[in-house]
Amino acid sequence: MLNHRRLLDWICVAAILIIAQRVHATETIRFEDYFADGALRIDLVHSGTASSEEMSVRRIVREEIWAGPKVNLIPHWDMGKYRLDVRDDSSGTLIFRSGFSSLFAEWRTTAEANLVRRGFEETLELPFPRGRVELDVSVRNKTGEFERLLTVSIDPESHVIGKTPNAGGVDIHELVVNGPPERMVDLLVLGDGYTVIEREKFRRDCRHLMDRFFDAEPFASYRDRFNVRAIHVASPESGVDEPRKRLYRDTPFDMQFNTFDSPRYCMTESVWAIHDAAAHAPHDAILLIGNSSRYGGGAIYNFYTAFASDNEYDDYLCVHEFGHGFAGLGDEYYSSAVSYNELYPRDVEPWEPNITALLDEGKLKWGSLVDADTPIPTPEDDPRYADKVGAFEGAGYSAKGLYRPAKDCKMFSKGNRRFCPVCERAVVRMIEFYSPE
Ligand SMILES: [Zn+2]
Repeated sequence: MLNHRRLLDWICVAAILIIAQRVHATETIRFEDYFADGALRIDLVHSGTASSEEMSVRRIVREEIWAGPKVNLIPHWDMGKYRLDVRDDSSGTLIFRSGFSSLFAEWRTTAEANLVRRGFEETLELPFPRGRVELDVSVRNKTGEFERLLTVSIDPESHVIGKTPNAGGVDIHELVVNGPPERMVDLLVLGDGYTVIEREKFRRDCRHLMDRFFDAEPFASYRDRFNVRAIHVASPESGVDEPRKRLYRDTPFDMQFNTFDSPRYCMTESVWAIHDAAAHAPHDAILLIGNSSRYGGGAIYNFYTAFASDNEYDDYLCVHEFGHGFAGLGDEYYSSAVSYNELYPRDVEPWEPNITALLDEGKLKWGSLVDADTPIPTPEDDPRYADKVGAFEGAGYSAKGLYRPAKDCKMFSKGNRRFCPVCERAVVRMIEFYSPE
């Protein structure tokens, strides 16, 4: 009898422990319990080849501003090629998570990565921790599972943590201010290749592009959830680099056309310089405007969004690129030549919310937006489905094996004024994440 009682007691204790663990796992992280004011910034060198990669810490600094939300610190989605996890050292509790992608990850899929080893600048940001934390950066492997790439233990009291210089002399222009940074989507626009005498042109270009941006849905409907600030850093020379023409300009952020030798891909590898400037203003997302009348741009999820200032497609360009940078949307087009080999491995479902490999037909990730009578895959030329959400073959630079949600979309063609419903839903999810009510 006694033994039975004991056994029952043990079963009760075990059950309570299991319930307690579950409660702990789903418990919301209270920002104030784990984080102080400001942000922790870690500059990294991400290096390797097509077949190898590693990350090394370059420096760690405290910044004065953390603009991100102070709730939902562990998003319920997993986006990006890489993932940053932050754990409280004493309890092991996961207290912060963010996904991101990088220029290095794209470069690894180019032909050059089979020939040389290269290093790229990257920067991670998180709210400044109160106590010692362990940071883990993981990368999706060939089967889509996360594998650990870097582990860093950080003591926030350590004297090795530097400080960013104060904001004296920084030329910050507030275009739109609707509320405090932790409750708004904070966009920060940096101009590249604008000289001292082009300061007014930079402001004009910012206003013009942000007007185009807020003309587009869903940004028009969510306009009051955004703050927009711009920083003008005087450039020694006007314009941005055009290597194929052997035109090189001395500019603060080193933007250049012909990234990966692609004519219109216009990016920069000077990520630390971007964050040195961005440290002075709240930023959930960074937009770089290159002072150029050539058509070009590019963007990478939770990395940055870049585009040229003056061209006939500017209304398309800034919104399309922002779709990549802010919401992790993939390119839905497949006809343009790109420099990537196997950017989307064939047997893995892409993490992008608007591209699928249809590996599991029963689990289409945008299935809730598809009518019951729409076939999957969806025939391209059947007029009954022309305006429907389905799964149309051809996406992510590939005519076969990858599918997009709609025939046309802002992520598919220049002609379309709107995101498809799947892309729009992904953008709205991010707006709501950064601007909690
Ligand atoms: Zn779309």
